[in-house]
Amino acid sequence: MRHFAKYFVSENDCTFRPSLSATILAMLRLMCITAHPDDEAGSFGGILRMYRDGGCETCVICLTPGQAASHRGGAKSDQELAQMRKQEFAASCAILRVSRPMILDYPDGQLYRQELNRVVYDLTREVRQFRPHVMVTYGPEGGVTGHPDHSLAGIFAALAYQWAGRGNRYRDQFSSGISPHRTPKLYYSTADFSMTGRQPISLAPATAVIDIGNHLETKIAAFKAHKTQAPLWPVFEENVRKRGASELFHLAAAAQPGLGKAETDLFECIEEND
Ligand SMILES: [Zn+2]
Repeated sequence: MRHFAKYFVSENDCTFRPSLSATILAMLRLMCITAHPDDEAGSFGGILRMYRDGGCETCVICLTPGQAASHRGGAKSDQELAQMRKQEFAASCAILRVSRPMILDYPDGQLYRQELNRVVYDLTREVRQFRPHVMVTYGPEGGVTGHPDHSLAGIFAALAYQWAGRGNRYRDQFSSGISPHRTPKLYYSTADFSMTGRQPISLAPATAVIDIGNHLETKIAAFKAHKTQAPLWPVFEENVRKRGASELFHLAAAAQPGLGKAETDLFECIEEND
């Protein structure tokens, strides 16, 4: 069992308490919002498995079944590829021990064409139901690949993060027994390198460096559960090993305002009853 540094909020500051946490993490929830099957492994695989192993509940919402991928694994139609990739997503999430994996049926490659309120409505409902303590997604740049679907997934997720906590947004959802939920923290995935030969992207500065330990190998295994994407495995593995056993994040929003500081735990300053 991995042990996490745990921080507790005092009056104005976090007081480091190096004890830890299976009991506390067991009450915490992490939500990850992505665009394509394989994003959960490539960008978030280390933290998903590590926090789950610590007892945290994890939810991954993937907005598309990835039916527009260039690598098609022999699929004869978009529909067939979508089915294959849904199974691969399930296999990857099993390796990452995701508590609540979910694929929505928005069209791959077309997120910029979707009606904003429709997607944000769906995500807001999921946030209000799962009630995460931490949300992770992509920044508007679209992560290291700069994929426009990643950008849109991050923008939709950031709006859902903000609006889920407000009593005047999507009020009809409250009739089904759910209530507003204010998630303490929102992070964007980021990196300290850029991929060569690509259009320029400006990544958010890393504010949290998370040591994923031996889950670098778990993450690579989860990525390789996406068999239709086998031609991407070598470039993925090369890039992910370049990052080493850490995943980098940018604190994009927090319910508790204040000056930012370097973190080594996404749940820093969060208590289970937040
Ligand atoms: Zn992707």
